[in-house]
Amino acid sequence: MSTYIVLLGAPGVGKGTQADILAQETGLVHISSGDLFREHINNKTELGALAASFMSKGELVPDDVTIAMVEERLSYSDCKKGALLDGFPRTPTQADALSVILNEKNASLSIVPYITASDEVLIERLSGRWTCRAPGHHTFHMIFSPPAKEGICDIDGSELYQRDDDTVETARKRLAVYKKQTSPLIAYYREQGKLVKIQGDQPIEGVTKELLSVLER
Ligand code: ADP
Ligand code: AMP
Repeated sequence: MSTYIVLLGAPGVGKGTQADILAQETGLVHISSGDLFREHINNKTELGALAASFMSKGELVPDDVTIAMVEERLSYSDCKKGALLDGFPRTPTQADALSVILNEKNASLSIVPYITASDEVLIERLSGRWTCRAPGHHTFHMIFSPPAKEGICDIDGSELYQRDDDTVETARKRLAVYKKQTSPLIAYYREQGKLVKIQGDQPIEGVTKELLSVLER
């Protein structure tokens, strides 16, 4: 049996941080649509150029190309056991498409942990985030989870950088986009009986503990 999990929540709430930890704990692969787009940007692909034009403004990349990209990633053999999806789906159209993609694999979503925190906390987290340039895209926070050596990833020694959409101004725009376009997914998954609320405004270990206890159920 496979286990597909969608981590739902606003930008900066800790989806990527928790997905990395849960991937180690469960052996499931962590798939972040934002990381996939950033890889396309690094590789200077056509999709990367298109995605960058939306990402730099804090807007969502169009559904059709986003769905196609995630569908392709989900076809890789490391997803046979399931996956931890982070940042996808972000619209009801994407959520419907995910359900069709999983159906074709005779699978379905197991659970949708919905991680919450106030806007103030989200802005503080996004504006202090440092991201690793290597393919693991590990993240740190200058106050809440600083690397041992400034500017260097603890895990693989790569350079850390601040994403250009992690400025306060673009972060606010991303939160507004989240409220308008993504928050309808809260009711969408609640109606399917899949939503489980997780308190995101606590230290990283506390959030992990809540998530693990929910996944064990
Ligand atoms: P998302 O993937 O939801 O956008 P991230 O996992 O990248 O969010 O987290 C955003 C920032 O907040 C990162 O710098 C991360 O280190 C930090 N962070 C994540 N979870 C917590 C937490 N529970 N407490 C404090 N800081 C956190
Ligand atoms: P993230 O890494 O999740 O913070 O996403 C960064 C940016 O990538 C977002 O602000 C969007 O521009 C784009 N993006 C990531 N995932 C999606 C998605 N599922 N749908 C549309 N755009 C996305």
